[in-house]
Amino acid sequence: MALTAAVAAVAVALAASLGGSSGGDAQPSGKPSTSPTPAEVEVRNATPRPDWKPYTGPVPILEYHVLGPAPEDAPYPELYVTRPDFHRQMDWLDENGFEAVTLETVQDAWYRGGTLPAKPVVISFDDGYRPQFTYALPELRRHGWPGVLNLKAEGSDLYESNVEAMIAAGWELASHTIDHSDLTTLGATELEEEVAGSRRMLRREYGVPVKNFCYPAGQFDSTVIAAVEAAGYTGATTEIPGYAKSNAPYELARFEILGSTGVTGLAGDLGG
Ligand SMILES: [Zn+2]
Repeated sequence: MALTAAVAAVAVALAASLGGSSGGDAQPSGKPSTSPTPAEVEVRNATPRPDWKPYTGPVPILEYHVLGPAPEDAPYPELYVTRPDFHRQMDWLDENGFEAVTLETVQDAWYRGGTLPAKPVVISFDDGYRPQFTYALPELRRHGWPGVLNLKAEGSDLYESNVEAMIAAGWELASHTIDHSDLTTLGATELEEEVAGSRRMLRREYGVPVKNFCYPAGQFDSTVIAAVEAAGYTGATTEIPGYAKSNAPYELARFEILGSTGVTGLAGDLGG
């Protein structure tokens, strides 16, 4: 699914109106890339803090799609979370002691003795919609948090410079295939291309490890898991609701946040 032209146009207009603060797109061409704009400075929780502790227990992962109002003809209006709702959900997390980290940071704690904040949460964004850059990046930055971008390697709404700005802010880039196929329907060659090929593309394009994978529409089976493992991924996220656990690295649960979830639904998901 894609944003309608109207919504995309609004997002582009918004980004333009924000001028230099919206990241690489608006920078004058002569500006040296060695002086980072505020948008390019890594956020606080991108790397472990001194007060974090070792932790190997379950961690909630949230799943967002589009931030903004659903257009009338949207095929899946529930996948749109309004910006006020998203803003309130992030504030609720902060007020209740949650701190967002990347999935890589969670895995460092799970498998390699790393540390986490007292109430860790991973906030993931699927597919690559423009508001994930224009809105989620600054909103998470306000809290000092990185997110996880589960990016389709081709055909997302994000410019390469948007993704680069998110990575510079400490976000994790994870693969969400090349063209968002249902992986359980593919033959071996196509499966390898979507799973391992997307990782090769993203690593080449952005120069980051791409350690995790996200199943399109949450669809997977044992053949798909084997392909994900063979491609060298550390973990993979599903749409099975619940807390993610270290003993199921390729079946990591996520709470899907929908238009109807609100703060009450989020609090319910997290047991608050
Ligand atoms: Zn998706």
